[in-house]
Amino acid sequence: MIDFRSDTVTKPTQAMRLAMSNAEVGDDVYGDDPTVNSLQDMAAEMFGFDGALFVSSGTQANLLALMSHCERGDEYLCGQQAHNYKFEGGGAAVLGSIQPQPLNNQADGSILLQDIEAAIKPDDVHFAQTRLLSLENTIGGKILSQDYLAQAQSLAFNRGLKIHLDGARVANAAVAQGIGIADITQYFDSVSICLSKGLCAPIGSILLGDERLISKATRWRKMLGGGMRQAGIIAAAAKLALTEQVDRLADDHHNASTLALLLADMDEFTVDVSAVQTNIVFATLAEHIDPKALALKLANKGIIISPNRQLRLVTHKDISANDISVFVNTVKQIIR
Ligand SMILES: *Cc1c(COP(=O)(O)O)cnc(C)c1O
Repeated sequence: MIDFRSDTVTKPTQAMRLAMSNAEVGDDVYGDDPTVNSLQDMAAEMFGFDGALFVSSGTQANLLALMSHCERGDEYLCGQQAHNYKFEGGGAAVLGSIQPQPLNNQADGSILLQDIEAAIKPDDVHFAQTRLLSLENTIGGKILSQDYLAQAQSLAFNRGLKIHLDGARVANAAVAQGIGIADITQYFDSVSICLSKGLCAPIGSILLGDERLISKATRWRKMLGGGMRQAGIIAAAAKLALTEQVDRLADDHHNASTLALLLADMDEFTVDVSAVQTNIVFATLAEHIDPKALALKLANKGIIISPNRQLRLVTHKDISANDISVFVNTVKQIIR
């Protein structure tokens, strides 16, 4: 099967499976799992933070960050398109009593600094207290520029806000720019990173922050049922995600850009090739093609896509350069 739905579908590598079967483990709720501890120490060191916490998912990492920065009745500023506003079940509001203040995302994924400024609430009993700015990089596969991050950080600092990065795909942003992940994370008070997307771990995300944030997050994680016991089994694979899978993302980016160019050449698709900066391709299907019928016919040929007019095609380890040609040729056969 060639599965374009998401990079979350990646299977763990043989090296990961071997590391998992041999992992030294302990009870992580007691802090006794040596493999989890070594993953957390390694991540904190690699990304320049005091501490790191291994958690079940990106959603949990973001929720823990929001709940650790904000108290009940506080608010966070984020994009209308932010994953931690739109795609996480309203967790911050439901479980944290934290109000999101969504702001327009520009076409490049950024939020205008003047929009951020204007949304910070004055100290007045009518308003929730603005505590946090949350950005996402990559967002919709697009990279926020390093200049923009520096400006957002200084705005947050000057206005007494903390700044969080939903860095589910921050490794993609780093590799595409030819810089280190730490060059991006340096601008933030906390960062969440998915290890189970392009980095191919079966399960898990990392939350980074200072000691105080990590100790609050550890408490919330336990309350939310995320205290895992012999989690070294999955942490062993997560370590390899950080050490062996980052550079490989360049292949995914190359495949995505090839795919975008090939689809842009066909009358049946509209693609903004310049928006394809990492491993996500958005392509709009022409009106006369039914996305559901196309998806069904592709599935019969072993290719999985999400059946939408606005297609989101994601490249990853388990899609090769050859799979890109197979996909494009199969689509041509079906629609012509
Ligand atoms: C996937 C994703 C998440 C959530 O990760 P899960 O592990 O699926 O919970 C958060 N933010 C962004 C930007 C993502 O793409």
